[in-house]
Amino acid sequence: MKIDKIDIAKRPLLIAGPCSAESEEQVMAVASALVGKADYFRAGLWKPRTRPGCFEGVGKEGLLWMRRVRNELSLPVATEVATAEHVELALSAGIDLLWVGARTTANPFAVQEIADALRGCDVPVLVKNPVNPDLELWIGALERLNNAGITRLGAIHRGFSSYGEKYFRNAPQWQLPLELHRRLPQLPLICDPSHISGKRELVMSLSQQAMDLNFDGLMIETHCNPVCALSDSRQQVTPDELGVILDRIVHRSVSVDSSEFQAYRKQMDEVDEAIMGLMAKRMELSREIGELKREKGLTVFQPSRYDETMKRCEAYCERAKLDSEAMKDVFEAIHSESIRQQLRIVNGDKS
Ligand code: PEP
Ligand code: MN
Repeated sequence: MKIDKIDIAKRPLLIAGPCSAESEEQVMAVASALVGKADYFRAGLWKPRTRPGCFEGVGKEGLLWMRRVRNELSLPVATEVATAEHVELALSAGIDLLWVGARTTANPFAVQEIADALRGCDVPVLVKNPVNPDLELWIGALERLNNAGITRLGAIHRGFSSYGEKYFRNAPQWQLPLELHRRLPQLPLICDPSHISGKRELVMSLSQQAMDLNFDGLMIETHCNPVCALSDSRQQVTPDELGVILDRIVHRSVSVDSSEFQAYRKQMDEVDEAIMGLMAKRMELSREIGELKREKGLTVFQPSRYDETMKRCEAYCERAKLDSEAMKDVFEAIHSESIRQQLRIVNGDKS
């Protein structure tokens, strides 16, 4: 994939503004308060609402307000596009940056329609992760845009939805954007702590985590009067609160070549090797037990044995002050690999 860096003049790149453009006065008030803070002013004009009957955006009328922001305040502007018509309207109004929303990324037909409408344009486009934790779908959307000639691409991590009561509105599942970065290291990665958190109190700590994970920028929903906002009112911060967040974020350095680090890393590599050695020994034992199970006609999966292993893991975690949830994941992985090895043996495949 050919990706040009979106002009990241300063890190973090900051995109801020209300969830939705609501009126000309609201847009101009927020944007004026963001001059000197934000690199792009964001506002949604066409709002993809989960349920009908909610505020669905002001539509193309808002493009005139965005133009005022751009021309009168010299602040570049960004909005969400979900159809070919949105793309055409946004481009003819001179919108500087477009983003594809999470619900749209989940739909390849919609993304293809947007990509076709963008063919031949040199506008930067950010792609939010799909609502479901599917990295291939996220990459697929980026590829569709790239195949249409868009090279100034970036990704926005806004978390993943799930059913039921939860702490975050959209679970961060940081491993997905980090894997995206591993696969496409040149792709700028922006974090949207507003949609991950769903609550303004959590925006600061999520922004810090994103910076600690080396994200290139942040998209933060900002409104002069968040409690009265027509959409996402719980998660928006005021421009002053945004200022406090930006002042408080600690920027850490990425470089790790000091000798102090090298010494720790060396010890860690040794521990990793020891773990691998133990893992090899454990799998060897599993295979030997597998032979026995085959001879005696026993099932590979022994539920009581599994429960015992997990109980022992929990007790050990308590003694060793390890996080038992995280260690359970490790033991589950080890156990399922043992089962896989034994299934091969019971079925007569010793390779
Ligand atoms: C938004 O940015 O206001 C928005 C609708 O976000 P998402 O696509 O992440 O839900
Ligand atoms: Mn929103």
